[in-house]
Amino acid sequence: MKRLSIKMRVTAWYAGIMLLLAALALVVVLSAGSRYIQSSVRNRLEERVVSSFREIEWDEDDGALDIDDDLYQVWNGVWLGIYDGHGYPLYGGAPGDFPAGVVFENEHMRTARDGENDWYVYDRSLYIPGYGSVWVRGVASQSDSEEAFSTIFYLSLVLFPFMAILAAVGGYMITRRAFRPVSQMTDTARRISGGNDLSQRIGLEGGDDELYQLAKTFDEMLERIQTQFEKEKQFTADASHELRTPISVIISRCEYALEHIEEDGEGRESLQIVLEQARKMARLVSQLLMLSRADSGRAQLQLENVNLSELCEIVVLEQEKAASEKKITIETRIQPDILMKADETMMMRLFINLITNAVIYGREGGHVEVGLSSSDQRVKGYVKDDGIGIPKDQLGRVWDRFYQVNKSRTSENSRGAGLGLSMVKWIVSAHGGSIDVESCPGEGSCFFFEFSR
Ligand code: ADP
Repeated sequence: MKRLSIKMRVTAWYAGIMLLLAALALVVVLSAGSRYIQSSVRNRLEERVVSSFREIEWDEDDGALDIDDDLYQVWNGVWLGIYDGHGYPLYGGAPGDFPAGVVFENEHMRTARDGENDWYVYDRSLYIPGYGSVWVRGVASQSDSEEAFSTIFYLSLVLFPFMAILAAVGGYMITRRAFRPVSQMTDTARRISGGNDLSQRIGLEGGDDELYQLAKTFDEMLERIQTQFEKEKQFTADASHELRTPISVIISRCEYALEHIEEDGEGRESLQIVLEQARKMARLVSQLLMLSRADSGRAQLQLENVNLSELCEIVVLEQEKAASEKKITIETRIQPDILMKADETMMMRLFINLITNAVIYGREGGHVEVGLSSSDQRVKGYVKDDGIGIPKDQLGRVWDRFYQVNKSRTSENSRGAGLGLSMVKWIVSAHGGSIDVESCPGEGSCFFFEFSR
């Protein structure tokens, strides 16, 4: 029962209760019916026996009993018989298979059984002036009277399974209808979580019941969350935009000052640190700006025919200096002249982020391998290192914004802000591609991506 959906559970309960009620109703109807039939047969029997008294009298002239012919007829299912005081049959009688020797008992309704048949028997003793006592016996078949009753019983046995199916199907349809708003809510929630689209609403129409109220509250809540979310995105975009100018002023002023300060001049080292940090901040701000543009759908791709192979070679060359500082050798397996319709700046950012990470998190004196190949309509690439790797349980989270596996793994200077891979992920999906990572702590990581051209 636990694993069944609510719809199925409600249906099962509904069908079960309906059947129980039907069974109860049937039992009540059958037992009341049976009692009614029995009492009506008894009444008929008694009535016929008593009413026959008027038809029996002593005929003085003939010196015999005068009995009306009507008594010979089986009327209303009742046989009548007149017996003398010793039980000897005088007129009429009982049905052929009525058992012989049933003792006379005055005014006592009872049953007598003969093999297959059951009979109701009712005797009355009657005193006839001039003749003496006679017995009047009424006999009625029990099985005849109960025939109608057993027909109803067997009919309901046949009808019962149909009723069960009807109750289950009807119950299911009613619950499905009642639960339609819930399915609508689930679909909306799924669409929101699947596509991150907070503009979706349930929009349940008509009605004022509990589910409608729930859907309305849910929609109002979504409205508030969306407004809040939009505000936050706008704030990030505005803040990043406003920060760009002062940062570029700091960078240019630092560069100017460094050009004019003497080689061993006082404060040169401090200036260099300021310049380094300002550049880092500039990178962070431009990444934030790009991600907030991507969120609001304002990041337009400037698609053109890009030579990905050349682009990748350039990035590798640029990263060689940083790699050599860690004695890392970068090997390339780049198939020449792979062309793809893409945004060149974004693609460059993708290679920079992946290769920089491979160097930062690579092993001192190790290797980084960069591969790019194309076949049919697909372009495949990978960036592999033999560095510290990523624990299995964190592999899925490295794409999250500001997520960093373990800050103590790298020095403050080389580390980014945890935005690099979320940007990579966005760039890949904006170009309709896919990216994944395989990694083993202590052995290295491999990021592999794929695009269709
Ligand atoms: P960051 O700017 O901190 O490098 P990223 O988004 O580029 O942020 O990466 C997120 C986290 O994923 C990093 O903090 C790092 O711990 C982990 N990571 C990324 N690339 C690698 C790699 N090649 N090897 C090991 N860990 C990596």
